[in-house]
Amino acid sequence: METNKTNGMIAAILIAAASIACWSPSESPSVDSSTPRPSATSTPSNTNQMSETNKAPTTMTGFKANLPTGFKEPTDDAGRLLLKEYGAVFVARGGVTPPNTVVFRDQAEVTSFQNSLKTSSENIGGFNLELQTVAMDDLRKAIADAKAAGLSISPRGQDSAKRTYDETIELWKSRVEPALKHWVSKGKITQADADRIRGLSPYQQVPEVLKLEQQGIWFAKDLSKSIIYSVAPPGTSQHLSMLALDVKEHEDAKVRDILAKHRWFQTVTSDLPHFTYLGFGEDELSKRGLKKTTDGGRTFWIPE
Ligand SMILES: [Zn+2]
Repeated sequence: METNKTNGMIAAILIAAASIACWSPSESPSVDSSTPRPSATSTPSNTNQMSETNKAPTTMTGFKANLPTGFKEPTDDAGRLLLKEYGAVFVARGGVTPPNTVVFRDQAEVTSFQNSLKTSSENIGGFNLELQTVAMDDLRKAIADAKAAGLSISPRGQDSAKRTYDETIELWKSRVEPALKHWVSKGKITQADADRIRGLSPYQQVPEVLKLEQQGIWFAKDLSKSIIYSVAPPGTSQHLSMLALDVKEHEDAKVRDILAKHRWFQTVTSDLPHFTYLGFGEDELSKRGLKKTTDGGRTFWIPE
């Protein structure tokens, strides 16, 4: 549909931002999380409510109250949308550590965060995967349960669990560069503008690209939709937090039930193979500010 472009674009960004938990080299619907960079500027806290320091995730209800201590609230629209649509991972607890930012700026930030985590490695389905330890422990239990039921739970590939920032950069570039060339050749972007964008860091490129997309200058591989349907903007993937897994058998409802029993949930409605470790049972999730939605016979938990 080509009508209603502006609203369509905003909706596209919103929906796609919600869908970027995983990327894959193809143009499959499995893509990774994106957002223009949210600024780290803090907003004045409401002193009549809870201050930043006395947020108590164990007793407070609601999504905002369960964001991690020191969480950098996004202050731009896209960042806020991303948080709302894609931010279930930020309420993860139960022995795991969620990220405290919607977007990591660079490899150094990602490495620093990943190094602060307690992690475990395991060879599953022929792939050596790394996750936060408690998430891995529960995954092992889910795999054992599945096996007992004559089923299997396995990763889609080597990049199904932990990812590095640099891995997302390569994919990002593989979309941005051809699109810049194309739109310059069509006269939609000047050569000078294209060169300017090329000179930016990937982190700085994200908002620039999304701004161009608001004018219908699309950056997905087929140049007909938003780049965030296609790749994860750098620094935005749940996989960077080692709390995500792309599951080969995601179409089997019994597999999804077993994963949910072990605190692995679907949290991104348009990213079907993607599961997020939340560290709580289903009965606890609504208290953490997530709401249950059903789509295509699947259950998703997304920020309220
Ligand atoms: Zn994923």
